[in-house]
Parts: sequence; structure tokens; C-alpha cells
Amino acid sequence: MSDCIFCKIINKDIPAKIVAETPGLIAIRDVNPQAPVHILIIPKKHIPTLNDVTKGDGSIVTDVHFLAQELAKNEGVGEKGFRLVLNTNSEAGQSVFHIHWHLLGGRILNWPPG
Ligand code: 5GP
Ligand code: ZN
Repeated sequence: MSDCIFCKIINKDIPAKIVAETPGLIAIRDVNPQAPVHILIIPKKHIPTLNDVTKGDGSIVTDVHFLAQELAKNEGVGEKGFRLVLNTNSEAGQSVFHIHWHLLGGRILNWPPG
């Protein structure tokens, strides 16, 4: 998608602080962090929202969770606690319509979320 900011980051057309990269995923620091650890895990495939995920994308979803596990450990929040957030559509606050998971940690995360 030529007008998608995350596709541009994936294609290295615009810069980002890359934390990890695999054949199917990229993980970057959020430009506007909401916690000491705020990483975005982004599939390289342009899928707009969770509503667009199909069974054929199952391995992507699994890989996201294993990468989150690894990054949480590397960032020192695996045992203390962290949150994996997937916002879907407007009432949930999704602002970039290329599916991504927020990995948040490094502070007390309140529940319920705002
Ligand atoms: P959403 O609101 O869609 O769940 O999350 C989008 C996230 O992407 C936001 O937390 C926002 O700060 C982040 N973001 C938007 N544009 C950029 C960018 O160009 N670079 C990086 N690193 N993060 C971005
Ligand atoms: Zn995209």
C-alpha cells in the first residue's frame, strides 16, 4: 500500500527505530511512547484490521505472540509484566490501518484501560 505509513517503514522508505526484524514481521519503537517500553509489532503483510485476518494468516498471529514473548524478555518486562494491545477500528482508537500490536511495559498498567 503506497500511502500506508507502516508499509513505508517496512520498505525502509521512512526511518524507524527497529528493534527486531524477521521475514514476516518488523518491531519498532513507537514514535509517541505511552510507557517506558512501547514497541509496535507489525506484520509485513498489509492487513488493515483484525477484522481482515483470515485463517491463512494464522502463522502471522502466532509469530507475533512469540516475538512479543522474546522482546518482553529482552526489554526486562517479561517477568514484571507487560501488555499486548491490538486496537481495532475507531472506537478502540486505531489510527494506523495496517494491523499492529502494541507491546507496553515498564510501568504499572491500569485496568480497565481508558
Ligand atoms: P493505533 O492508534 O493505530 O493502535 O497505533 C498507532 C501507533 O503508531 C501510535 O501509537 C503512534 O504513536 C504510532 N505511530 C504512528 N506513526 C508512526 C511513525 O511514523 N513511526 C513510529 N515509530 N510510530 C508511529
Ligand atoms: Zn501497510
